[in-house]
Amino acid sequence: MKKRIVYLDNNATTRVAPEVTAAMMPFFEELWGNPSSMHTFGGQVHRHIDAAREKVAALIGAEDPSEIIFTSCGSESNNTALRGVVEAVGGKPHVIVSCVEHPCVLSVARHFKTRGHLVTELQVDGRGRLDLDQFRRELADDTAVVSVMWANNETGVMFPIEQIGEIVHRNSHAVFHTDAVQVIGKLPVRVRDLPIDLLSLSGHKLHAPKGVGALYIRKGTKVNPLIIGGHQEFGKRAGTENVPYIVGFGKACELALAGLEGERTRVARLRDTLEAGILKTCPDTHVNGDREHRLPNTTNISFEYVEGEAILLRLDELGICASSGSACTSGSLEPSHVIRAMGVPFTRAHGSTRFSLSRYNTEEEIDYVLQHIPGVIKGLREISPFAQPSER
Ligand code: PLP
Repeated sequence: MKKRIVYLDNNATTRVAPEVTAAMMPFFEELWGNPSSMHTFGGQVHRHIDAAREKVAALIGAEDPSEIIFTSCGSESNNTALRGVVEAVGGKPHVIVSCVEHPCVLSVARHFKTRGHLVTELQVDGRGRLDLDQFRRELADDTAVVSVMWANNETGVMFPIEQIGEIVHRNSHAVFHTDAVQVIGKLPVRVRDLPIDLLSLSGHKLHAPKGVGALYIRKGTKVNPLIIGGHQEFGKRAGTENVPYIVGFGKACELALAGLEGERTRVARLRDTLEAGILKTCPDTHVNGDREHRLPNTTNISFEYVEGEAILLRLDELGICASSGSACTSGSLEPSHVIRAMGVPFTRAHGSTRFSLSRYNTEEEIDYVLQHIPGVIKGLREISPFAQPSER
């Protein structure tokens, strides 16, 4: 019998929507020409890329579809944003990021540092919030780019992007980039009304396949291409377009836009039921991050006195997929940089577990998790070297 899967790891990746797969198939089997070809067979494919671009633009409320370029993933979009702006500006300008960015942003920032750039990593407080006064003070005349994520993938905590963008534009000449990979498809966005110059998104976080992403580039923003050697994507990203995936991404954006309002509240209700149920039935549990400003689908919960990895293994045996805030580095379980940056105490940090939902989750699945989780935690605490006898 096929094992039951309750998938609560949607910030890692999402199931490809069946409508998306169906939309992609003709581009493997029939319409497989090169969109840059002169002949009709190839050329006709191009209008499907344009249609997908319009759908991405519609989902994020861009003024013009030409402000969207397709990439291979969110990581490429983020790399293009940071490297592209710094290269366009030239020299060794100042760069600002937050210390809880995804590694694909942090690594680029730290690479700049090794090349002699001044790089500021903005700190967060115990609830994962930025200090905007510190941020104002850090902006300098030579700041080329500020990159601050819209929502954190581990905690779901959302930064006040509108305020941050206004501060950037009012006080500097810097370009403002936001990694919105975890926001797009979960919350309504109208980028044309926001002080955002560059915005990254990723297909596989919103029910398109892995291997396709996009970067919004507001008209007039100077960004050098990361990949050169072709005219594709308005000369901003060389390489023959991944047509089936781009078409699938467009379809996923169309579906997300159509279902956004209803799904957002339904998913938030399921998340809240899960969270409240865990806090009620498992003693010594804490939610990590600011619960007021958070994605509707995410909860990050610390179970004191147990290792996140142990929880995940026990949940896995029950077919429940979640993820842990720790990473196994050289044999020791280190809490992630996000949890560490928030100053979460050791006994909590090690048991931090992320549950992230999507439109495919049901009430019945949440009931199933709530039925099993108290037993899992109790069982682990009974054998935990961290737990005091009273907690076992
Ligand atoms: N940014 C954030 C916030 C993410 O959560 C992820 C993926 O986990 C990425 C960027 C990278 O996206 P991709 O997997 O498409 O490269």
